Amino acid sequence: MAGKLIIGNWKMNTRAQSAQSLVDALLEQPACDQPWVGVAAPAVYLAALGARLQGRSIRLAAQDVSAFASDGAYTGEISAAMLQDIGCAYVLVGHSERRQYFAENNPQLLAKMNNALAAGIVPVLCVGETLEQREQGDYLEVIYQQLAVLAEINAGEYLIAYEPVWAIGTGKVATLEQIAEIHSAIKTWCLQNAKPSASIRVLYGGSVKAENAESILMTDNVDGALVGGASLDAGSFRMICQAA
Ligand code: PEP
Repeated sequence: MAGKLIIGNWKMNTRAQSAQSLVDALLEQPACDQPWVGVAAPAVYLAALGARLQGRSIRLAAQDVSAFASDGAYTGEISAAMLQDIGCAYVLVGHSERRQYFAENNPQLLAKMNNALAAGIVPVLCVGETLEQREQGDYLEVIYQQLAVLAEINAGEYLIAYEPVWAIGTGKVATLEQIAEIHSAIKTWCLQNAKPSASIRVLYGGSVKAENAESILMTDNVDGALVGGASLDAGSFRMICQAA
């Protein structure tokens, strides 16, 4: 079944050998070797994995992209053009870990989104509230502020990932009601405010596992999943892909 998109976010994990083995294990699984499945590997391994994925269906994704648009004296940065050059189809933008540890803010994220769009890479804007923000009750406002970037971007196709910070890597999953509420609110906000995309698709991320993938993916307005921890295990990731 197609229609739902599954992207695995490996974060800062794997080594050259284990990254290749993981991709090889996924390629052996028909449920995984599909155009609606992506793997966001660490930047240093993307080129080798891109070569491995040539002629196959799994899409390559990056975890970040530079806010600088063109080549130049930006030590340590990786441009959207470089990611495009090695075959990246997607790039995560504004993952909560980057917002938290690298203080990424909307002006930077706007530049990153535009750079990806200009390079023909589909950016996945990650949004989500902290536990404190949820408990204070102003989580929708927080999410709308993060989405504001989408009102200013240049035209092109993008995706959104709703990832409540309190559900990432914690084993705490948002309830299906909470997911449905936020995904619906995000789509309504986008229809009213965002630059149009080919379609407005919202992935859910936050402790998605083999056991809960099906119910999450069947929830209203959930168009796929961004999977962290469970994407590092080929068996678990296969089961999530099967649920898509
Ligand atoms: C993520 O980091 O994007 C994520 C959803 O992580 P996990 O699945 O481990 O909660």
